[in-house]
Amino acid sequence: MTSKQDANTPAVEAEHDDEQSREQQKAQRHKARQQKLKQSVDARIEAAQKEQGVFMVITGNGKGKSTAGFGSVTRAVGHNKTAAVVQFIKGGWECGERNVLQKLGVKFHVMGSGFTWETQNREQDIAAAESAWKEAEVLLSDPSIDMVLLDELTYMVTYKYIDLARVVDALKQRPKMQHVIITGRACHRELIELADTVSEVQPLKHAFNDGVKAQIGFDY
Ligand code: ATP
Ligand code: MG
Repeated sequence: MTSKQDANTPAVEAEHDDEQSREQQKAQRHKARQQKLKQSVDARIEAAQKEQGVFMVITGNGKGKSTAGFGSVTRAVGHNKTAAVVQFIKGGWECGERNVLQKLGVKFHVMGSGFTWETQNREQDIAAAESAWKEAEVLLSDPSIDMVLLDELTYMVTYKYIDLARVVDALKQRPKMQHVIITGRACHRELIELADTVSEVQPLKHAFNDGVKAQIGFDY
């Protein structure tokens, strides 16, 4: 018997029908699952009706925190929103995002003396942190600013260069529709509790550990 004849035998036809009905059942089960998922997602979207400024913390030891913060500022600017950035570290460092965003009208305040892990002068660092924080306070009380990025603020709180209570107060009293993003490692527990959205970036790998130096246009 040839295989062509095989295909026409009742046994083979029945097997083919079985296969078809299994596929149909699979498709129906998939459709039912998707419908259920859609209902649940739709219900959650329907339930989320609040309009408010969101306070977000981006923390963790992985790479991508500041990048995500600047990405959000870019998103805001792309919708004709006003945004401002205070950089609490790396005063003298280059910053590709700053070069672009300043041209688009985003106000930047970079911490004067440029606190980095290299500085040794505590008094000078505290004065620089205080001055940058004063700028942040002005922004956090200005309803015309839709988004404020406080890049690397977490370290100022950890080092106790800026009083946590002042940060919490300013965040709580800010304009209702203003979004605030704080980035930096080891964010204080109280700020995490206060935040509406918190993301922790986990390092799985980093090129630096393979001896790759910080690359312009990629790392800064
Ligand atoms: P990025 O600015 O690239 O988004 P980040 O804000 O998450 O990084 P920071 O802790 O602010 O990271 O450190 C800034 C610099 O340190 C960047 O040049 C970044 O590539 C580097 N860096 C970040 N995470 C790590 C890591 N896990 N190991 C080594 N270097 C890192
Ligand atoms: Mg950073």
